Amino acid sequence: MDFTTYLKNYPSKSGRFGRFGGAYLPEQLVPAMEEITQAYLTICHSSQFINELRRIRREFQGRPTPVYHCENLSRKLGNCQIYLKREDLNHSGAHKLNHCMGEGLLAKFMGKKRIIAETGAGQHGVALATAAAFFGLECTIYMGEVDIAKQAPNVARMKVLGANVVPVSTGLKTLKEAVDAAFEDYLQNYKDTIYCIGSAVGPHPFPMMVRDFQMVVGEEARAQFQDMMGFLPDVVTACVGGGSNSIGFFLPFINDPVEIVGVEPLGRGEKLGDHAASMSYGTEGVMHGFDSIMLKDENGNPAPVYSIASGLDYPSVGPEHAFLREVGRIKYDVASDIETVDAFFKLSRYEGIIPALESAHALAYAMRRAREMDKGSILVNLSGRGDKDLDYVIEHYGYGDDFKDFDKPAQVQQVADVQPADETPAVNEDN
Ligand SMILES: *Cc1c(COP(=O)(O)O)cnc(C)c1O
Repeated sequence: MDFTTYLKNYPSKSGRFGRFGGAYLPEQLVPAMEEITQAYLTICHSSQFINELRRIRREFQGRPTPVYHCENLSRKLGNCQIYLKREDLNHSGAHKLNHCMGEGLLAKFMGKKRIIAETGAGQHGVALATAAAFFGLECTIYMGEVDIAKQAPNVARMKVLGANVVPVSTGLKTLKEAVDAAFEDYLQNYKDTIYCIGSAVGPHPFPMMVRDFQMVVGEEARAQFQDMMGFLPDVVTACVGGGSNSIGFFLPFINDPVEIVGVEPLGRGEKLGDHAASMSYGTEGVMHGFDSIMLKDENGNPAPVYSIASGLDYPSVGPEHAFLREVGRIKYDVASDIETVDAFFKLSRYEGIIPALESAHALAYAMRRAREMDKGSILVNLSGRGDKDLDYVIEHYGYGDDFKDFDKPAQVQQVADVQPADETPAVNEDN
């Protein structure tokens, strides 16, 4: 396949990446999605919109975020050099704000008064509440009661930012019910409201818009690396939950001689329910309004998923990922919980950067590859910072004394007193 014209041709007018993607919607919402698509396709070419988004990124978000060479970590692993794109330094601590600010600005340009979403662990809710505060939009976030109880700090953040957090008390009181409640709200209120999806998933135009808003990450990183080094990295890698930080980071390299690898959570192992590696173990299906690769249970419904990183436990993946693997441009690999925790502690201890557990999956993969390659360079998208994960990690793994060692890869390292949690931690996907 020729990738020089890729961005012009994908997605198609109907939102397809090959046979993946599309928009599977209740009839009432077809005009609402059509309105968003048309508005976006017009606005994204307007210099007023582009200039305003640039100003926001520079002055409010603190972009560009730096590219950083992990000299200490690289030296410990051999001769391959690891670099990080520091999205953990993006305002509010992760890449999610990149698309939330884009969606907020779009809502403003369309004259909408209100943005809504559901949230699981609360990361998307916080990013969207931040955007709403900035743009002076009303913001309603639906969240299961069980999640509200587990995620007190993020609930507090959303409220301080002015969002209306609506507890959902039906069913299991977690993400699925929150999605239903947000959807119900949207059906009633789509005239003055936009439903802001938290990753490169959902019906067209969301996978396209979220990708476009996240591409600033890869564009910056490619130029910064080229400036620093005079050439491009051999491998670029990022973690894949719904697939927003990864697709935005990867696409600017699509036409380069660079190996691109998405990293999914292997969790506790290969058994269904123990991981959330949709690309690696899933099959094609339709859920949440789009066609992609997904993990299904025996009845064909979305399967239960697990990851130590609550932002990665989603049973499907953005349709563009499914397509780019099928045409052979992007590869997918996995990192287990234990490798991830190892990467989390090693980056903290040897570089002074505490990564989000989501991002630590990509770093774990990069560390494994660095040992194998023993030359060249790997650029990792560090999608977020790890403050939010500290309590969990300390409770289950202590302060990392078992993870100081570089002699043995993490998978074979004996971590004596670590028991898997009986209750899965924050099993609620956060997209
Ligand atoms: C939500 C989240 C992710 C996963 O979402 P994607 O859409 O796959 O990028 C990754 N990293 C961090 C820090 C997150 O908060």
